[in-house]
Amino acid sequence: MRERVACGACVTVPFGRRSLVGVVVEPGEASDLEGMKARSIESVSGHGAPEITPELLELTRWMATYYMCSWGEALRAALPPGAGRPGAAAPTRVRVTRVALAKAPPAAEPRGERQQALLHELRQRRAKDLDDPTQPELLESGGGSSTTIRRLEELGYVRIYRTLVDRYEYAVQNEARKVVPSADQNTGPTGQIQLNDDQTRAVEALSRAVEAGTFRTFLLHGVTGSGKTEVYLNVLEQVRGRGRTGIVLVPEIALTPQTVRRFRRRFGDEVAVLHSRMSQGERYDAWQGIRSGKYAIVVGARSAVLAPIPNPGLIIVDEEHEASYKQFDPAPRYHARDVAVVRARIAGAVCVLGSATPSLESLANARADKYTLLPMPERVPVDGRPAELPTIRIVDQRGSPEFVSAQLIEALSGCLERGEQGIVLLNRRGYAPTIECTACGWTPECPDCSVGLVYHKPLRHLRCHHCGLVNDMPRVCPSCRKETLEKLGTGTQRLEESLKEALPTARILRMDLDTTSGKDAHHEILQTFGSGGADILLGTQMVAKGLDFPRVTVVGIVQADSSLSLPDLRAEERTFQLITQVAGRAGRHALRGEVLLQTRKPGHLVIQHARRHDYEAFARHALAEREALGYPPHGRMIRVLFSGPEDNRTESMARLWALRLSERVAQVDVLGPSPAFIHRLRRAYRHQVTVKLPPGHAATSLRAALEAATAALGHLPRGYRMTLDIDPMGMV
Ligand code: ADP
Ligand code: ZN
Ligand code: ZN
Repeated sequence: MRERVACGACVTVPFGRRSLVGVVVEPGEASDLEGMKARSIESVSGHGAPEITPELLELTRWMATYYMCSWGEALRAALPPGAGRPGAAAPTRVRVTRVALAKAPPAAEPRGERQQALLHELRQRRAKDLDDPTQPELLESGGGSSTTIRRLEELGYVRIYRTLVDRYEYAVQNEARKVVPSADQNTGPTGQIQLNDDQTRAVEALSRAVEAGTFRTFLLHGVTGSGKTEVYLNVLEQVRGRGRTGIVLVPEIALTPQTVRRFRRRFGDEVAVLHSRMSQGERYDAWQGIRSGKYAIVVGARSAVLAPIPNPGLIIVDEEHEASYKQFDPAPRYHARDVAVVRARIAGAVCVLGSATPSLESLANARADKYTLLPMPERVPVDGRPAELPTIRIVDQRGSPEFVSAQLIEALSGCLERGEQGIVLLNRRGYAPTIECTACGWTPECPDCSVGLVYHKPLRHLRCHHCGLVNDMPRVCPSCRKETLEKLGTGTQRLEESLKEALPTARILRMDLDTTSGKDAHHEILQTFGSGGADILLGTQMVAKGLDFPRVTVVGIVQADSSLSLPDLRAEERTFQLITQVAGRAGRHALRGEVLLQTRKPGHLVIQHARRHDYEAFARHALAEREALGYPPHGRMIRVLFSGPEDNRTESMARLWALRLSERVAQVDVLGPSPAFIHRLRRAYRHQVTVKLPPGHAATSLRAALEAATAALGHLPRGYRMTLDIDPMGMV
């Protein structure tokens, strides 16, 4: 067995009376644990080949140190789901149909245009040395229908045959049918585009770094519609040309189908796409395929940063400012952007962080010359004419009881008359966020969480958006028995109702968590909107992401200020980013865009900077504020959350821990404990301690002190939990 047990191999080992899966990180003869005897490995999986590459062993080791979790927790994040169980899934094969060029086709071309297009596609694939496509893949890129293919077979141009594929490939082939129309469809089957000057400059700088073959990080700061994706595609080509591979991280696959498709169009079967809606079996097979070198490019959300792709030469983090790159539960509580940078360093790769609104952390790193800034300050010109960012008009909603202003209705109806489309953002789902009894002031609260319940109209329910609890909406006030319950405020459901009333002929689609629970729901909504089957797309921040629809000319932002007052140090940054992102959906192509920003804080600096598309001014303001308060990127933070069934006991635990820590550290602020923003969640009380480190201090320098403080608590009683979050994002 010794020969087969290489570092990184997955093995099954006896552990007490159970068997567990372990990863070999170092050979050894004896146990490190006192009083423990070494036992024999039961079996080695993966046919003896290492499962975890040396690069990922080193990366997970770094994660364990930096995020203060166990190496095992970090390694688990790098293994496919199900790999933790002994005897877990093995790749499984499914039968599919492929199409190949015939060996001796007729000399003359077929007559049908569709037939010619399909043949052309097949020949191009052969010229690029790609595998024979499956039937749906071929139809996706070449057009036509299965009848066209059958006809070509009858005429002797192609051969249809059946092969075995794994579950991942099988799923991909079914996915291939789904296409969301996008603006770049006029660019030919491979999506080749002539780069403009800014893009060329960026691509050249990146190519030089790729050629040098050493680690370097770039911050690609390009306004919405400046053509960042095109830059990624070009640099990936260079990397491929040098025999190396690439990883592309996107915030959420379901919300960025057009971006993903552009990678597929350019790189075909070389691309593996990892997304959260894959089954465990599909993920397992995809992982194996990536590990074995079958794919050259991995596109995926957060966890794809740990994809086992061999020899990465380029790691791209698109929309690097997105909070979804941070994992909170379970450990490792990592930030995929930061892990990407470290992985690139270990692999000797180039890392590209792209955004229209870079996080202040990345901006600070660029200013400190840790990252190289690549600016793309202008939109891609259309037909040789300069394209402009949309005009943002502020609609002062102070004193107005309406959810939708007359100005927004007017802009949307103008847009409908011209046969164009609109997007409306309201970052709050449900019908009414608050219910209140006007007689006695009663309002419904979740019995398990310290938050109010939200009214959902379709089933007349009250829901907790944190734990999912559902209650019926009472007819009378449970407290005073009067019929005086009022629905206050608006969520997306109510907004949809208001818009339908004001624009009775408009075809409106709503996209939020409630309308996208089905497997293909995102796709269906975007597909309908993209093909002109609806006039207005209304939704939560889901509609703000990378959508690229050329007929969208009006964007409405309802309650733009609602997120400004959240108790989060990044509340202003998030608001600025969200406004900029959604505004960036308007007027991306030949048609000019207009944005209406409804707010009750028209004079707020963030609103004003966003209105002028002035990222620099916003960043100056925000960085100064962070510095004054000692918040990141000026220094770092650790958040420690204590939770448990009894409020007082949880708090005193947090208090003791904070005290023990502050006794051991100098130059570090230990703040709290204080009740968490959501004081009670799923019946657990929560208190937090925040540790602020001055610039130049890494959290790891506190390791000994943190460990000692934790040891002082002893063994936590049943039901109590302590979580350490390094570089925390958002509120918990
Ligand atoms: P970003 O990611 O910066 O928002 P995209 O890469 O999506 O921008 O580009 C915006 C649109 O412009 C896309 O439809 C894309 O196909 C198109 N595009 C990008 N670069 C060029 C170019 N050089 N010439 C013409 N069109 C381009
Ligand atoms: Zn009442
Ligand atoms: Zn709840």
